[in-house]
Amino acid sequence: MSDDSRGVTITPGDERYPGLVEGYNHRFTGRPDYVRLVRTTAEVAAALQEAADAGLRPAVRSGGHCFEDFTSSPGIRVLIDLSPMSAVSYDEDMGAFAIEGGATLDHVYRELFDGWGVTIPGGTCFEVGVGGHIAGGGYGHLSRRDGLVVDHLYAVEVVAVDASGHVRTVVATRQSDDPHHDLWWAHTGGGGGNFGVVTRYWLRSPGGVPAAPEQALPRAPRRIRRADVTWSWDGLDEKSFTRILAGYTAWHEQNSAPDSEGRHIWGNLIVLHRSAGVFFLNTVIDEDVPGAAELMAGHLAAITSATGVQPLSVEEQVVSWMDTWMPSYSWPSDPRGRYKNKAGYLRRGFTEHQLAAVYRHLSDPGYDNPMACLVLTGFGGQVNAVAPDATAVPQRDSILKASYSAGAWTDPADDGKHTAWVRAFYRDVYAETGGVPRPDDVNDGSYISYPDVDLADPAWNTSDAGWQTLYYKANYPRLQQVKKTYDPRNVFRHGLSIELPS
Ligand SMILES: Cc1cc2nc3c(=O)[nH]c(=O)nc-3n(C[C@H](O)[C@H](O)[C@H](O)COP(=O)(O)OP(=O)(O)OC[C@H]3O[C@@H](n4cnc5c(N)ncnc54)[C@H](O)[C@@H]3O)c2cc1C
Repeated sequence: MSDDSRGVTITPGDERYPGLVEGYNHRFTGRPDYVRLVRTTAEVAAALQEAADAGLRPAVRSGGHCFEDFTSSPGIRVLIDLSPMSAVSYDEDMGAFAIEGGATLDHVYRELFDGWGVTIPGGTCFEVGVGGHIAGGGYGHLSRRDGLVVDHLYAVEVVAVDASGHVRTVVATRQSDDPHHDLWWAHTGGGGGNFGVVTRYWLRSPGGVPAAPEQALPRAPRRIRRADVTWSWDGLDEKSFTRILAGYTAWHEQNSAPDSEGRHIWGNLIVLHRSAGVFFLNTVIDEDVPGAAELMAGHLAAITSATGVQPLSVEEQVVSWMDTWMPSYSWPSDPRGRYKNKAGYLRRGFTEHQLAAVYRHLSDPGYDNPMACLVLTGFGGQVNAVAPDATAVPQRDSILKASYSAGAWTDPADDGKHTAWVRAFYRDVYAETGGVPRPDDVNDGSYISYPDVDLADPAWNTSDAGWQTLYYKANYPRLQQVKKTYDPRNVFRHGLSIELPS
């Protein structure tokens, strides 16, 4: 090990190496020549220059939560790991919160809450890193109320490699007269690993410079009312199952306008495979919203009473947002797990054909995996108050995100069985649109932070929409121009990275 101005170097013989080249998805393990743990922007620049001079392909990692192999594919020779860069502070000069690129969401939520009582509408998994999360758009519990994280992104610091192979550090803001404005825009949903290394994000809500830090970002809830509904698969037939899903999606169709009162309610319908025996709805509302209890009651009634199916249990309680709800919330996962995830946006409820496919695969008696699931996450509300081209996230009139997961399993010998199940599930749900959520009146493509390389594979995507359209729609050409300006050598690339314009 050596420790110098380029950061801490960790090579394959070091006992820390295995932990640094493995991420959340244990299907992928990197084999870089070395990992460089960096602590400052200057160290990132030095590490990147050294890699560029030696002709070694780098990749950057923050929280390690990528679904695909973007930081661990075989060609990567240098892994720049930002996890030591996790500071959260208020930057008076910028009038915005400065968050270093290696911070994890739990650290960010805790620092913002304890210091100023504010928060960002970010993801539900605490270990996710802001490095990849914010660049991809970022959404979570509060997005229906507050939009995407990138709707609050004011500036970004990026270390990139220019056409002559020299490293440069650029700060890009959302100010329309900023010469680097387009680089800021590309980080509002273009996705991680495309343009350079993000060393710092500055966050503040739209509008002018806030009078005080407490006004720079949304107020964090203090107490939330949570309702947890459990259904048993026992006794459910296709008709009753379908009515539960249709009730849930219908509520979102009716309550996802930007200013709808329902924007205060967020939920995850976690429909586990039948082998789990049960499945769940977890839903929350800020208890300080006027009429919170009534709003929650109406929400639950819309989903449960219209279905004619009695849930196994409905539990409601008021708990602390920061100390109880946030740390306890996660979806099915295993720290040793291997995963294959797929996703799609919904503009309205599933079609009859889609519902039948959902039922068929989730009740498939030939497949036994109690963690396999479809998760329908509440979306829309204030997310839909933003124009499709204002940020790089074009999906601005959806009501739900659908996530399809075969995780988690631990034995590599089972990779084929589980990936085959989730691929067939997804292909059948989207059979009417070429096996993918091709944009139409129901579907609206997918989310780059839930990357799925199958969308670039003609064996799985038989539609006339390429992966570029599914993720970025009309925003793709502008992202390519940013790529050409800031990463003309295509140093930062992966299985779904922005291509240089032809
Ligand atoms: C269990 C789980 C739950 C999730 N929940 C949510 C959720 O609720 N909401 C949501 O929006 N997303 C969610 N995600 C998706 C998550 O936002 C993405 O996986 C995100 O890319 C993870 O970022 P990371 O830094 O942890 O990952 P990494 O694996 O470190 O990086 C992911 C990608 O971003 C790039 N990258 C990382 N850091 C930087 C950087 N500093 N500069 C430039 N590029 C960088 C990497 O090169 C790679 O291409 C979840 C993912 C998982 C696994």
